[in-house]
Amino acid sequence: MSAQPAIQQVLEQWSKLGVEGHFEGEYPWTQYHKYLVPTLCDLVGAKAEEIVVMNTLTVNLHLLMVSFYRPTSVRFKIIMEGGAFPSDQYAIQSQVTFHGFSPEEAIVEVFPRAGEELLRLEDILLTIEQHSETVALILFGGVNYYTGQFFDLQAITKKGHQVGATVGFDLAHAIGNVPLELHDWNVDFALWCSYKYLNSSPGSLGGVFIHERYANAPHLPRFAGWWGHDEARRFLMEKTFIPMYGAEGWQLSNSPILALAPQKASLALFEAAGMERLRAKSIRLTAYLEYLIHQLNKIYPHFEIITPSQPHERGCQLSVAAKHGGKDLFHYLIKHGVILDWREPNVIRVAPTPMYNTFEEVWQFAQLLKNWTSLVAIPTPVG
Ligand SMILES: *Cc1c(COP(=O)(O)O)cnc(C)c1O
Repeated sequence: MSAQPAIQQVLEQWSKLGVEGHFEGEYPWTQYHKYLVPTLCDLVGAKAEEIVVMNTLTVNLHLLMVSFYRPTSVRFKIIMEGGAFPSDQYAIQSQVTFHGFSPEEAIVEVFPRAGEELLRLEDILLTIEQHSETVALILFGGVNYYTGQFFDLQAITKKGHQVGATVGFDLAHAIGNVPLELHDWNVDFALWCSYKYLNSSPGSLGGVFIHERYANAPHLPRFAGWWGHDEARRFLMEKTFIPMYGAEGWQLSNSPILALAPQKASLALFEAAGMERLRAKSIRLTAYLEYLIHQLNKIYPHFEIITPSQPHERGCQLSVAAKHGGKDLFHYLIKHGVILDWREPNVIRVAPTPMYNTFEEVWQFAQLLKNWTSLVAIPTPVG
């Protein structure tokens, strides 16, 4: 409930100070995005100059590809996970086409083996090796939105660098969900949105990580804007663009403060709770959900969990495939007050979130599953 006062505070500052709110008041707007950075550093494992909050995820993906996808006639391929989030697929296809390549020749997708749902790390690394001379960029999700699989970002980065590629990650489903150490893992760049696990309000701004080694790289190609220009000289309205040190040098515009206020409020909660403690609870919460579904399966073998069973290979989400009537089950659960998500063809995504879900709620959810299985005609129970 801290979002409302945070927005109210901005409205009050606006009504009192008008345009001067950019420079005055408790949280001047020209600096506002910076108040979010310390907590984000903890969440992704980065230094302050490696992070900036700006735009939305897909916009940032395009901006970062301008800098970090620099294909040549020899090295032009992008390796990504098969079944990536559609917006990423569209962005990447359009970038490849923009550079004059065809998506068929330039995009290499890594898929699970026949009959499997998850990607094997060895297959990802082997694919990188197979295209070693021709791969320009490796762009993976951190946690796959559909299966909930948390990839080994450090191993992927290491292999990518070995073959001379740049490595970036889309952390939409990873930030605030799983522990991340982007700086130490040596990741080149990463990006995220804030409206999933970060609870920052619909369409609130995304964030970007750019490794320190690019902090002072004025010659790295980028699409520039006045907010990325040297802050001390920004309002001198000079002709020549001098990028700010670090990720802030990729900013284009003055930030929408009303969208940032609830993100600031949300990050204060993450700061208070601490990612380590959240993760510790998350592992137990999801394991409990998994246990209850396994128990239920002993009576009605109806649910298949496609998310990895190892805690270090997943966040809080379990993707559950229902053998019969998945969509009906989804509607049944919604009707009984569970907030969850349906993905074609038959997957229910359940994400008990350590910030605000309880073990009792997980138990109640399992009771609903149980009630539903006894409501619908299920073929012969086993055992
Ligand atoms: C949600 C999501 C997006 C979309 O983010 P926008 O901020 O709406 O552009 C992109 N990629 C992934 C993996 C997502 O989960």
